[in-house]
Amino acid sequence: MSKYNDYIYDTIASVSPRVAEILGNEMNRQEENCELIASENFVSDAILAAVGSCFTNKYAEGYPTSRYSGREGRYYGGTQNVDELEEYCCNKWREVFNTDYHVNVQPHSGSQANFAAYMSVLNPGDTILSMSLENGAHLTHGSSVNFSGKLFNMVFYDVDKNGTIDYFNLAQKIAIYNPKLILAGASAYPRIIDFKKIRNLIDGVSDKYYRPRPYFMVDMAHIAGLVAAGDHPSPFGLADIITTTTHKTLRGPRGGLIFCKPELAKKVDGAVFPFAQGGPLEHVIAGKAIAAEEACTPAYKEYIHQVVRNSKAMCDKFIELGYDITTGGTDNHLFLIDFSKTHPNLTGKMVQDELDKHNITLNKNCVPNEKRSPVQASGVRIGTAAMTTKGYKEQYFIDKAIEIDNIISHL
Ligand code: PLP
Repeated sequence: MSKYNDYIYDTIASVSPRVAEILGNEMNRQEENCELIASENFVSDAILAAVGSCFTNKYAEGYPTSRYSGREGRYYGGTQNVDELEEYCCNKWREVFNTDYHVNVQPHSGSQANFAAYMSVLNPGDTILSMSLENGAHLTHGSSVNFSGKLFNMVFYDVDKNGTIDYFNLAQKIAIYNPKLILAGASAYPRIIDFKKIRNLIDGVSDKYYRPRPYFMVDMAHIAGLVAAGDHPSPFGLADIITTTTHKTLRGPRGGLIFCKPELAKKVDGAVFPFAQGGPLEHVIAGKAIAAEEACTPAYKEYIHQVVRNSKAMCDKFIELGYDITTGGTDNHLFLIDFSKTHPNLTGKMVQDELDKHNITLNKNCVPNEKRSPVQASGVRIGTAAMTTKGYKEQYFIDKAIEIDNIISHL
């Protein structure tokens, strides 16, 4: 680990040997393990430093005063520096995605961002059309154990037998259910999502039935880095509201962002604070600002291109080794292995647990038309963003595929 990590360790050890001991173990784990969890990454020392900075001491409920034409925006005094920080952070994120959308950088996480985004334009009981959890969506996209499934009337569009979004079915569901919001985006979907097509379907069905246009929301948490680097089509200009996390392919601190068309700005801001959250995490906002600066660099774009090349190389190797990959491949930073046909006695959990023993970290995942519970699952999800940050290229990922195959063959 870096000198900066040594400094953090020593500073903590001088006060709490026990916390330092646990931290040291985690530092070693992160250093030694092959990290293939598709939603994780390793941030720069500058981001680590920002998140550990004195911005954590400041309360700043509200928004930079300048945002609403001079009206008092914050609930506390002493916010001149965090006001500047937050404005700078917002501007930088607009630059990353080359957009004039409004942006709120305060969501504490992706889930908080989605909660606020829904509540900015919906009321409890309204209908949301989304992808289902079994087919690759996130808990906040309508799972019955999540606020989304409890608060809203969730209906789901299908994937075809290979796991690819069935756009025809999506259009049919819009016509049948007349949802108030249509959500695109996923946690475990390896293919390009055609935002333009979805926009056209929404508009087409609305015109045909003389209905007002439903809101189109995109949760690009997983693919945001690819959108920033031009490796995935952008939802900007098409979606009304766009949410993301900052800690996956964007390689920033743990947190969320909400972008929206300018006319929804006040609704979105009000839904984040005071509705869903209290004081913003200004130390994390400092980290988000640095992540945005990093994402604007050519080096970051090259990093994302390499993430995608690595993902394809590893995925192709698994195909060559006889594995069943949902949708038959990948266009992005992740792919899913489905054991249900090739290894019917294997569960995703068995594979995850065995690989853990070999210092390879990934997660079990449901596959399309899943027959097992999510606790066991019939597949695993593999992502290349974290290990690409460590500098690894295609050959490393090909070798890891061979190693994983070897481990699985002994199960
Ligand atoms: N949206 C998507 C698509 C995700 O994959 C995730 C997390 O994995 C989230 C939202 C939620 O993010 P968080 O864990 O920060 O709440």
